[in-house]
Amino acid sequence: HVSGDAVLTEVGRRLSAAVRPNDFVGRIGGDEFIVVTFGPTTEDDRVSLGRRIIESSELPYGDADNLFALSASVGVAAFDDGLDAAGITPLEAIRCADSAVYAAKQRGRARVEVYDAELQQRIVRDAEVEMSLRQAVRNDELVLDLQPVFDLNQQRFIAVEALVRWDRPGVGRVPPGLFIPIAERSSLIHEIGRWVLMQSCEVLAHWAQFPALSHLRIAGNIAGSHLVDGGLLDDIDAAIAQTGADPRRLAVELTETQLMHDIDRATAVLRQVRERGVTVAIDDFGTGYSSMAYLRELPIDALKIDRSFVASLSDGGIDSTVVDALLTIGHGLGRTVIGEGVETQEQLESLRHRGCDYVQGIHLARPLSLSHVQALLLDHARDQMLSLDGSAS
Ligand code: C2E
Ligand code: MG
Ligand code: MG
Repeated sequence: HVSGDAVLTEVGRRLSAAVRPNDFVGRIGGDEFIVVTFGPTTEDDRVSLGRRIIESSELPYGDADNLFALSASVGVAAFDDGLDAAGITPLEAIRCADSAVYAAKQRGRARVEVYDAELQQRIVRDAEVEMSLRQAVRNDELVLDLQPVFDLNQQRFIAVEALVRWDRPGVGRVPPGLFIPIAERSSLIHEIGRWVLMQSCEVLAHWAQFPALSHLRIAGNIAGSHLVDGGLLDDIDAAIAQTGADPRRLAVELTETQLMHDIDRATAVLRQVRERGVTVAIDDFGTGYSSMAYLRELPIDALKIDRSFVASLSDGGIDSTVVDALLTIGHGLGRTVIGEGVETQEQLESLRHRGCDYVQGIHLARPLSLSHVQALLLDHARDQMLSLDGSAS
């Protein structure tokens, strides 16, 4: 508490130094400060004041023996003709700035966000989505599409990736990009993850009865916060126990950025995930920032090369260098490498030629409903049997 108080005092001092003598600086909550400036300013002035505040907050705190750093996010709300003219109370004005801070934090660390009509609309829209999404999980409005993953060595489908969609009443089918980021702001994403694990394990238990399907894995996408503090292990255990699925057929995918966020905790939990026989893949590999030092230690089985790099394979030339590098890293670390977003035969051949292990993308199969994916996988298995018979005779 003593050092916390010292830091708060120091932040207050730095804020006062960053503004003009007539401006007002105060602390309004635990780690929240407010700056009120008077007189005409332009938006540029306000944003650069925000930046100055961030820069001064980021200078180190403490003494030589005990140095540490903080980051700050700034939200700006401006009322050029005064609060009365805007018809709002001081408390409402603070709430506007607070919304802008919230939006700034959503976009990452150390940002300045300005409150305007667009931000206001976005906040209302996102709140609406979040509220109906909470209902959606309970009302069975979520559905899983499954996209097959092809093993280039064995020449057969080896897995499917579970991709969530939302059949929103009155709206239609909503893709995950429009609601997963909103769910990720709260524990709602853990509920969705739990649901995905349960559904996936039910499918696994069903497929275990079919010789042509029983070798398949199902990979679910899991948010970093679910891994770090959302009870992922309990959710995996519950899904396995309730369905009787074989944990070795279950896989989870996490993006590198989410893993790196709290690498120590992620490593500890992933180790326990793998102890259960569940496999782990890093998704969208190459787009975030992985520390190479950590990558070696991370308990993972596979890397999925992001589709932006796979797309660049079509043009040949220099862009294939990145894919080659990612394959070298993955294989050098003894991991399986999966190419995502394969859309053309050319990309497929290029990945095969480079020694990629698995491929996934619309060129092979798009994400399909359970019944469609089953039909496709059974057809494929039968074709393969026939061609094996043919070559034997
Ligand atoms: P992701 O895990 O990298 O999933 C792959 C995305 O690429 C999917 O988009 C898939 O439909 C799309 N895709 C597959 N083949 C192709 C192709 O050949 N070309 C192109 N351009 N795209 C292809 P989708 O289903 O819209 O999912 C987007 C992202 O949403 C996923 O990226 C994943 O990060 C997230 N997501 C999906 N389902 C879940 C979930 O259940 N939980 C969580 N936490 N995130 C999910
Ligand atoms: Mg994925
Ligand atoms: Mg991906």
